[in-house]
Formats: sequence, structure tokens, C-alpha cells
Amino acid sequence: MKVSYWYNNRDIRIEEVPTPAPGPGEMLVKVISCGICGSDIVEWYRLPRAPLVQGHEVGAEVVAVGGSVKGFKPGDRVFIAPKVPCGKCFYCVRGHFPQCTEVKERLPGGFAEYILVPPALVENGTYLLPETVTYDQGTFIEPLACVVRAQRLAGIKKEDSVMVIGCGMAGLLHVKLAKAKGCNVTAVDVNRTKLDYATRSGADLVIDAADDVAGRLIAETGKKADVVLLCTAAQQALEQTWKCVDKGGVIVLFAVPGPDKNVVVPVNDFWMKEITILTSYYCGPPDIAEAMRLIESGDIVVDDLITHRLALDDIAQGFRLVSDGRESVKVIIKPHDRSADG
Ligand SMILES: [Zn+2]
Ligand SMILES: [Zn+2]
Repeated sequence: MKVSYWYNNRDIRIEEVPTPAPGPGEMLVKVISCGICGSDIVEWYRLPRAPLVQGHEVGAEVVAVGGSVKGFKPGDRVFIAPKVPCGKCFYCVRGHFPQCTEVKERLPGGFAEYILVPPALVENGTYLLPETVTYDQGTFIEPLACVVRAQRLAGIKKEDSVMVIGCGMAGLLHVKLAKAKGCNVTAVDVNRTKLDYATRSGADLVIDAADDVAGRLIAETGKKADVVLLCTAAQQALEQTWKCVDKGGVIVLFAVPGPDKNVVVPVNDFWMKEITILTSYYCGPPDIAEAMRLIESGDIVVDDLITHRLALDDIAQGFRLVSDGRESVKVIIKPHDRSADG
């Protein structure tokens, strides 16, 4: 089978390896769709584990199951979480699933023709896709689950004024979810195309990041935002974030600048204004269930965010598109489709 090894964003190599056979408790799945996540292109985050088979937004079909596997059979359409928390440790018991200390197995990357799913993930990390949810839609389950969790932690509720800074795939899912909750949503980006996507995703107000963002927000909505969701690693955007949150408000760092960046937080001002800063990094099983429900019910429509579908042979182009960010929102790799240029 073909597998793609990621060395860095400009060096991705397709290699032929033997297709594995499932042992006891394991399952072999055929990857039909796998999304490129914004975090896949973050080199400071991924390089320590390179070369690496990336891809954690998977829609797949079961092709073979090992002995003792119950609950799945060849032909089943599934989504598989990249890792599963134990549910028993100090962190899991408190619902802090992303910090589980007992995660032993990760899903091998989905930028490959097949994945051998390890037993722990067969047991607790594999979900049958509802009949009406396509494989391509299935690639949104994991990113939407992360969005669901971040908004839950922030306590976002109906009629809140919510600002989303950075309108890539994650930012646009934040816009859609906040609208579905009945919020008043403002979206900010440097790119006009992304702002058009934000408008189509339901944003009530869009602001070019080069403008006086806080000034426009106040002029149009009467005040600053109750919740600001930072969805880009750009440092200037982080500085905008500080300026756009209202008194008593919440900032969610859904994305952050790299580890080499020094960030100055206006803590004195925030102390007096009682502003909360939260981080949100990943999701847990309840968020995955909620994301599946939102997609199945049509409360969150995701198809309009898909801009590119590429063969595995064209994965380098996919990483270029996502790194550049100007023309693409959601790029999906289809490992069993043929490359456009043969
Ligand atoms: Zn992701
Ligand atoms: Zn745990």
C-alpha cells in the first residue's frame, strides 16, 4: 500500500509498504477521506516526531477485522479518533480528557491507503458514521469536536457577542457553531476570501484585520466582545485579541504563536476588568459525540468548506495549499482516487 511520510512541509515522500494484516483485536480500514488539519502544517509541533505519517481527520471503511473484534465488520463506514483517553486517571475523571496520562496508542496516520487500527482504538475510539454522513463530512468530526469543547469551556450562550479571529477551517467552524447557538458573531481575517466564507458561514459582521478592529467592533455592536476566539498563530492577531474582549469577558486561545515567540499579556488591565484567558487544545469523547450529532442533524453544514479533494500522490500540493492558506479552506486527501495528472 502507499503511505506518505512527512519530513517537513516541503518534503513529503510517498512510499510503498506491505499492507498490514490485523492481529487479535485489531482492524484494517481503507482510508476513503482524510482532511489536512491546520495543526498538520505547524512544524514546531510536528517536527520532533518526523518522519511521520500524518492525518487524523479520517473517514474510512472497515476491510478486515482480527479475532475477538466485536461491533465492527467489513463494509462498516467509520470515523476513528486519533487517540482515546483512559477515562480513569486523575485528568479524565475531571473531564480533562486531552490531558490523560494513560494514552498508550495513537492511530497511525490517515495519509495512507490503509490504517491498522490498534485494539484500544477499535474498542473505544471507533464510531460508526451515521448513514447520512458522508466520508468527507466525517473528516470534520474531529476538528468540530475541538471547536465544541472550546466553546463549552468558554461558556458561550445565546445572544453572546462572539469574535472569531482567523477564519481558516477551525475559525469558520467556530463561526458556524456560535451562530447555531444564537450568538452575534464577528469574524476577523487578513484575507478577503476568508471573510467571504465567514459571511456565508453566518457571521453578522466581518472586519479586515488591517482595519481598526476594536474600533469597528464597538462602532457596529456597541461594545467589545463577550468571547474572543483566537484561531490563528499570527502574533498581531493575539494583540488584537487583547484589545477586543469586553469587561468580564473570555479569551480562548484555540491557536497560539510558536514557542520562540514572546507574548506580553496585559495582566494589570485584565485583572481590573476580570478577563479570563482559556486555552483549548483538543477534545474528548463527549465532544466527538456532540460533533457527530451536529453534522448528522444538519445543524452544522460542512460541505461548503471543502475547497479541494486530492489524490495521495498530490499530498505535497495539499500541504502547500494549507500552508499558503489563501485559496483553500478544507483540503481532503482521497488515497484511493487517481491523481489528476495520472
Ligand atoms: Zn486536527
Ligand atoms: Zn485518563
